Amino acid sequence: MTSISLTAAAGEKSRAAFESARQLMPGGVNSPARAFGAVGGTPLFIDHAKGPHLFDIDGNRYLDYIGSWGPMILGHAQDEVIDAITAAASRGTSYGAPTEAESVLAQQIIDAVDSIEKVRLVNSGTEATMSAIRVARGATGRDKVIKFAGNYHGHVDSLLVAAGSSAATLGTPDSPGVTAGASRDTIVLRYNDVDAITQCFADHPGQIAAVIMEPVVGNMGCVPASEAFMKEVRRLTADDGCVLIFDEVMTGFRLAYGGAQERYGITPDMTTLGKIVGGGMPLGAYGGRKDIMDQVLPAGKVFQAGTLSGNPVAVAAGSKTLEILKRQPPYEQLERLGKKLADGLDAAATSAEIPHQVQQVGSMMTLFFHDQPVNSWDEADQCDRDRFAKYFWGMIGQGVYMPCSQFEALFFSRTHTEAMIDETIEAAQQVLAAIA
Ligand code: PLP
Repeated sequence: MTSISLTAAAGEKSRAAFESARQLMPGGVNSPARAFGAVGGTPLFIDHAKGPHLFDIDGNRYLDYIGSWGPMILGHAQDEVIDAITAAASRGTSYGAPTEAESVLAQQIIDAVDSIEKVRLVNSGTEATMSAIRVARGATGRDKVIKFAGNYHGHVDSLLVAAGSSAATLGTPDSPGVTAGASRDTIVLRYNDVDAITQCFADHPGQIAAVIMEPVVGNMGCVPASEAFMKEVRRLTADDGCVLIFDEVMTGFRLAYGGAQERYGITPDMTTLGKIVGGGMPLGAYGGRKDIMDQVLPAGKVFQAGTLSGNPVAVAAGSKTLEILKRQPPYEQLERLGKKLADGLDAAATSAEIPHQVQQVGSMMTLFFHDQPVNSWDEADQCDRDRFAKYFWGMIGQGVYMPCSQFEALFFSRTHTEAMIDETIEAAQQVLAAIA
């Protein structure tokens, strides 16, 4: 067996680059997960990427299971997408005026996602969820919003609340700077808990504007909603006349072309999208029933705007990505490889006698260091984080770039092959044996 390093091991150039970056940007990064804080080390600074691989500035190559946290389902620097971006950029990078290309992408989204009859393009997943909540409140004339502990919907003030307990609690902000007022109307419930949401609707009839949920959570590790839970949430929201928002920023175009809602056959009232819909460029979208979306200015009165919304370069990347996904659907391949990887990780952890759960839906997956199935945040929170950190650095040492937190799902792309999955399983066998 080759020797396995389980300690933080970024190269010299990455370490120097991080030191400089820390003088310039908070924590040296522009989004916190990138700092590798959860695993106590120095992030790898990336030079370039192609297909399933990332190349760091120290000249190391990694098999990438983050995929920019979800967008890169076609692999990095996909030729047709790069050509579309280049062609769009050469005609001008922003006009602040409508383009036909925006309608093409809007039509692609409407054709793909069952619940979307009209759509608005924005610049990120955060903008999409923030806007969807505002529209739901405007459309219903109600204030309260239900979210679930462990679900992440971007850094929207009113949604930066995960103070879940098994009972319905009015949310307490998770971040300094979010006022108690901003989260006063947010109710946090336990995920996959039918009794809690049933009780909540009984306690607040006619007061809930929206329920927002990740239908398959990626943000406490991979945790799918049970079909019974999803169906009950749909029934309760319809009976109460509130808006059900599926946050498909991660799952949209990943778990099926039509997202988790296609896969599970549940139709929400509104859907938020990001990541894949922008093909690796900053683009998000929110959409839903016509009567709800027509509340948005200038058709209706709910204000939402953006200088760069519908940006021609981002639209070109998103539109080309969706075109390719429709033309050559990768979903069967992703299912097959996902199952193979899940089975391989499960067998490797079992033979190392490490308490674990592998939870996988298509090309989203988490190896939890926990001996019980994880269905909610309180269960995810019991995982062995120290063992996870060792596993993470062990895999980096084997050239495999996994998410740097127990509470992030891994993603892979259409460019990952059977042989690469085999290599990953072999690496995991060695690393897990070393951390048993
Ligand atoms: N919603 C979900 C489910 C997400 O996973 C994320 C980001 O990871 C967001 C919203 C926020 O998207 P963005 O980071 O593009 O603002």
